[in-house]
Amino acid sequence: MHLKGKTALVTGSTSGIGLGIAKAFAAAGANIIVNGFGEADAIETERAALEVLSGGKAAYDDADLTKAEAIEEMFQRAEKDFGGVDILVNNAGMQFVSPIEDFPPEKWDMIIALNLTASFHTIRHAVPVMRKKGWGRIIGTASAHSLVASPFKSAYVTAKHGLAGLTKTVALEVADAGITVNCISPGYVWTPLVENQIPDTMKARKMTREQVINDVLLAGQPTKQFVTVEQVAALAAFLTRDEAANITGANLSVDGGWTAQ
Ligand code: NAD
Repeated sequence: MHLKGKTALVTGSTSGIGLGIAKAFAAAGANIIVNGFGEADAIETERAALEVLSGGKAAYDDADLTKAEAIEEMFQRAEKDFGGVDILVNNAGMQFVSPIEDFPPEKWDMIIALNLTASFHTIRHAVPVMRKKGWGRIIGTASAHSLVASPFKSAYVTAKHGLAGLTKTVALEVADAGITVNCISPGYVWTPLVENQIPDTMKARKMTREQVINDVLLAGQPTKQFVTVEQVAALAAFLTRDEAANITGANLSVDGGWTAQ
């Protein structure tokens, strides 16, 4: 329960990796601000379960992170309801798979807004409060695609490389303020984001579902296993501990050996 009394905002925590991180932080006693989209009843069930897990508070904020103003308002609510955010996890993200010449410009804009620019806004709102408290943790869910590329994912790869750069830059700016800034770069994790890109990848590469799973998704992952949400969440939880106070500006791979090649 090392996070008792701390508040964690985990963006995109109604699903997948974000929900896993929210659960790991709640298990360590943190208050949680859940964010993301989804079905109201399912979100309420998860929110209530987080309170049982932590013995603290969990709130849901429906801010659309592609909108700068919505992010600002979310931080105002966090200040009012929780006295600010101690741990920020920039996790919300989306994918779109298409050859560059057919890539819809509106999809490009949306992916850059959500997977990159949203983190600029959340970090700039979070840092002043963390500085005041002399403690903070900022974690980005980047991707193996923050280190290497794959074809047909131009916007995603661009945004994730950007997030890795933002992480390093801010880590240097706040290094003497008790705040660490890192990103975690998973390989393929079995979540709705991965499942939903299978049909488009089948189309783009003219492959069957099985071929996409084995010859595209797991082809580059030497362990031949999907990473689990719990494995990513456990690393995020470690980064919030005092033992991790000197891990900053790092891009930590959890990718079954993908980027070692
Ligand atoms: P997911 O689709 O399960 O979850 C995405 C979350 O983002 C959801 O909660 C969704 O509601 C939220 N979201 C989407 N648009 C939003 C918006 N405009 N405003 C606020 N929230 C929004 O996906 P996931 O696989 O859990 O992905 C989480 C993060 O992990 C993403 O940044 C993704 O790029 C990254 N990642 C995933 C994998 C993987 O293999 N699944 C690998 C590497 C990195």
